[in-house]
Amino acid sequence: MIDVESLKEKLIARVHASEAPAEVAKAPEFRELYAQIPSLPPEDRGDFGKRVNELKKAVDDAIGQRKAELATVALPTIDVTAPFDVNSSEPLLLPASQGTLHPLTQEIERVSAIFNRMGFVTEQSREIDDQFHMFETLNFPKGHPARDDYDTFMTVETDQDGDPLIAPAHTSTMQNRVLKKYQGNLAQGEAIAVVVPDRTFRNEDLDARHEHTFYQVEGVYVAKGVHAGMLVATLQKFLEEYYGRSLNVRVNPFYFPFTEPSFEFALECPFCEDGCSVCSHSKWIELLGCGMIHPNVLAAAGIDSDEFTGFAFGCGIDRLVMMKHNIEDIRHLESAKLNFLRQF
Ligand SMILES: [Zn+2]
Repeated sequence: MIDVESLKEKLIARVHASEAPAEVAKAPEFRELYAQIPSLPPEDRGDFGKRVNELKKAVDDAIGQRKAELATVALPTIDVTAPFDVNSSEPLLLPASQGTLHPLTQEIERVSAIFNRMGFVTEQSREIDDQFHMFETLNFPKGHPARDDYDTFMTVETDQDGDPLIAPAHTSTMQNRVLKKYQGNLAQGEAIAVVVPDRTFRNEDLDARHEHTFYQVEGVYVAKGVHAGMLVATLQKFLEEYYGRSLNVRVNPFYFPFTEPSFEFALECPFCEDGCSVCSHSKWIELLGCGMIHPNVLAAAGIDSDEFTGFAFGCGIDRLVMMKHNIEDIRHLESAKLNFLRQF
């Protein structure tokens, strides 16, 4: 016979020593107790059952106590000097749920989408290119003085001519490639219409308006009978779409080796009626360079300039973003400063 009282002490001691106290409630000793019942005289069975129930209750109470004790022990010690609550998870530096597209990326996508609706396809530029695409194909022969206007970075590695590779100073480096790639359009009576919004580089003295890394959208359009009026109309349409209002534009003569004639393109300030800080109170903003593609550039891509003509333009995207958001310093854009980026 098992003595109920001594079993109670034994089981409660077992609960106090256990890391998994609930297991004690399933102890084999309980089965042995129940197995004794048939051998007891009928008049003792009621009392025995009552004592077994008391035993079970005492063990359950001990299990509850032990569980509470184990739960307390499992808590980490609190470090009152910790910069966050030790009982909560460590805070993330930049929660992914709060991330947004960089303001430049937003504008590149927007510019690209407007031109896509106007029938232009978007191509990417390269971050390392050769001098053949940077200069020769754009009508800057070796030794041409205008090459000096494009002071950029060079690598130690050289191209097949022995010239250093360069970080492109404009996305016009892609003109020759896209003219060749889409030349089949001309044979089918369609235009070559491409924009290249991408990253460019210059060896600049950095200040609020000059950055060594910036973005430019190059546009190229070639077909039969293209003239300068189409160039002005295309840019005006783009800018009106971009700023969501009708705008006057004006062109002034300029010089680029790869366009003839070349223009400096200005638009009426979209931000004011009577002058503001964006337009330096002149009511006009000189925005981009453009012109009719030089016959030598078409010839370099194997296009007959007697049959086809075209226009090209190059516009700084950083400038568009800065004017749009009233950003006073171009260096913020590549700074990766979170307090700047979180505003977009
Ligand atoms: Zn203005």
